[in-house]
Amino acid sequence: MARRVPEAEIRTQVTVPLSFVDGYQTRARVFTFDGLADGREHLALGLGDRAGLSTSRAASASVPLVRPHSECLTGEVFGSQRCDCGPQMREAVERIAEAGGYLLYLRQEGRGIGLYAKLDAYALQDAGLDTYEANLALGHAEDERDYTVAAQMLHALGVSRVALLSNNPDKAAQLCRLGVHVTQRVPTRVHLSAANAHYLATKARRGAHTLDVAYVSPRS
Ligand SMILES: [Zn+2]
Repeated sequence: MARRVPEAEIRTQVTVPLSFVDGYQTRARVFTFDGLADGREHLALGLGDRAGLSTSRAASASVPLVRPHSECLTGEVFGSQRCDCGPQMREAVERIAEAGGYLLYLRQEGRGIGLYAKLDAYALQDAGLDTYEANLALGHAEDERDYTVAAQMLHALGVSRVALLSNNPDKAAQLCRLGVHVTQRVPTRVHLSAANAHYLATKARRGAHTLDVAYVSPRS
């Protein structure tokens, strides 16, 4: 039974040209919202056929490719090799731009525990704990991410059915409970490096992520 989520509405929308360090460029329609449940400043980026000023009827009839992506300052801004968030987001933007859809940028750093706590958890991992054990040792849950605001943003955008770009079965389950119909789950590639191999293996084992080696990125 789907839980009713509080209603949010679109506050502003503006076009932002994007250019990544590897030269890839596209345009995004960036949406902000009023009424998001946790009061934080989450964004939706409309890409591909959803990047226009007004979405065409053909686009609004199709099921958009959607990725709820949780903020990772260290990985996305500084290129940290401890995780794969930077390459994951870069891949997601291009694939969504090709298919038409939305990247939901969620301000929940470090699986929801925050930036400082994430760095504390890294220190514990250097002492031998895995990424989930480290969160527990700090008094947090293994994974505190919550997709209520993702469902709110989708509702505000008029989207009730999505193709979900994610390897995380928990995202699909949470969105279903929040009234978003996931028509299919589309895996992302695995962005493997020497520094994140252990992290990715732990995610696959503990978080039940579907990491298919066939999707290993040639850039990795
Ligand atoms: Zn990260």
